[in-house]
Amino acid sequence: MTSIDYREFYIDGGWATPASTATIPVNSPTTEEAIGSVPRATTDDIDRAVAAARNAFDDPDGWSTWHPKQRAEVLERFAVEIEARAAETARLVSMQNGMPIWLAEQFEGGFPAVLVRYFSQLMVEAPEFDERPGMLGGSARVSRKPVGVVGAVVPWNVPQAITFLKLGPALAAGCTVVLKPAEETVLDAFLMAEAALAAGLPAGVVNVVPGGRDIGAYLVEHPGIDKVSFTGSTAAGRKIAETCGRLLRPVTLELGGKSAAILLDDVDLGASMESLFGATLLNNGQICWLNTRVLAPQSRYTEVVDAVTALAESLTIGDPLDPNTKIGPLVSARQRERVEGYIAKGKDEGARMTTGGGRPAGLDRGYFVQPTVFADLDNNATIAREEIFGPVLSIIPFADEAQALSIANDSEYGLGGSVWSSDLERAATLADKVRSGTVGVNHYTNDPVAPFGGIKSSGMGRELGPEGLHAFQNLHTVYLPPAG
Ligand code: NAD
Repeated sequence: MTSIDYREFYIDGGWATPASTATIPVNSPTTEEAIGSVPRATTDDIDRAVAAARNAFDDPDGWSTWHPKQRAEVLERFAVEIEARAAETARLVSMQNGMPIWLAEQFEGGFPAVLVRYFSQLMVEAPEFDERPGMLGGSARVSRKPVGVVGAVVPWNVPQAITFLKLGPALAAGCTVVLKPAEETVLDAFLMAEAALAAGLPAGVVNVVPGGRDIGAYLVEHPGIDKVSFTGSTAAGRKIAETCGRLLRPVTLELGGKSAAILLDDVDLGASMESLFGATLLNNGQICWLNTRVLAPQSRYTEVVDAVTALAESLTIGDPLDPNTKIGPLVSARQRERVEGYIAKGKDEGARMTTGGGRPAGLDRGYFVQPTVFADLDNNATIAREEIFGPVLSIIPFADEAQALSIANDSEYGLGGSVWSSDLERAATLADKVRSGTVGVNHYTNDPVAPFGGIKSSGMGRELGPEGLHAFQNLHTVYLPPAG
């Protein structure tokens, strides 16, 4: 296979020579071989990218001042260029992080253009301002202004979809963006930059500068940044929140999770298994909202354990580029070590492992871990409390709905969750009481029209929906005097 190597950054509307010769090597988690490289950003490169975004935002006739319809025309061209690269984007993501290709085609190939169009349309349809009759005479004219230059820091697990949860609304709102992709998934970010260039996005509106944690921290703290939007670990989110607190800089944080799937006693297990896979083990267990705690009624506990165990055992493990693969490798050796550490911890603490626990037979290369299920543990076990970020599920029994709810809510996190029942109203009533940002009934899917995000250690702020657009806007009020 030919190596995919980029030599320049996308800064100020074109390809820019890096300040240093340092590179980020990209490895395949499937073959453990090198597949490409990109330049590694230094603080000088970040300075240049922020200056470009700053100039583009502050230009008195520039992007931020355009009518939403004008921006929508350019963003439509961007969506078309992204679509033209959708298959290659999916392939690159799958090669870099192990995401099964059928999922990469939906999430990474398909979702970005959908988000660009959705947020453009929201902006076009939004009233220019809201004029409110005053209580003290006169009126107040309330409008929304783009928040400014956005520093966007994204992780490796769903890199393009997460990038566009930020780029879509930020660009539609009139912001300009400096994007720092994660080191593990950089090739897709450069392909996206090619789409931006081909679409003729004005210079400086989007800039792509990959690097590690230090470079991310430098970007977050940069004086030229007006707003930070971050997705990743709770540990990094805490540090970023501290920096933004000190600087009084607005920040959106999408962090970790330990969500619960509550299976009620009238659940149709047979009919639920495919959707339950989507809610619990998608992307090799590497999604923040996955429902990795499965809460099962005592009356049907054995049946649930058997069904979930059978589900885990039915999943084809292998090359993520093979369309039949349901479980690919974890992103890196480090991530596999971490997941294997949690599996050992689960056993040490006395949980009963019903399947998995090791590396799959016949796959000597690649960071594979078998889908693993633990039963007979309570919610205090380490594996029930901490985010594992791998294909490891814990099945916890409950006596009644009240106890199920109390177990679901007994978590440091509050991002996703789901309730499964043959009675939709019963499930929806319970879902309403789950303390988290989002809860599904008989499935879990993030719909672009509704806000997505977490409470507690899962973060703050929301993405998607009109609320996700508002996250990139400042409210602005003009007081008009009484007539006469
Ligand atoms: P991470 O949070 O360390 O990295 C995510 C992104 O943030 C990367 O681009 C990284 O370079 C950057 N970053 C890290 N520390 C930073 C800092 N202090 N300032 C600015 N940028 C910083 O995540 P990771 O190390 O790749 O994964 C570790 C764990 O994070 C996973 O096991 C999982 O629990 C969690 N995670 C969550 C999500 C999510 O979508 N919520 C995504 C990836 C990882």
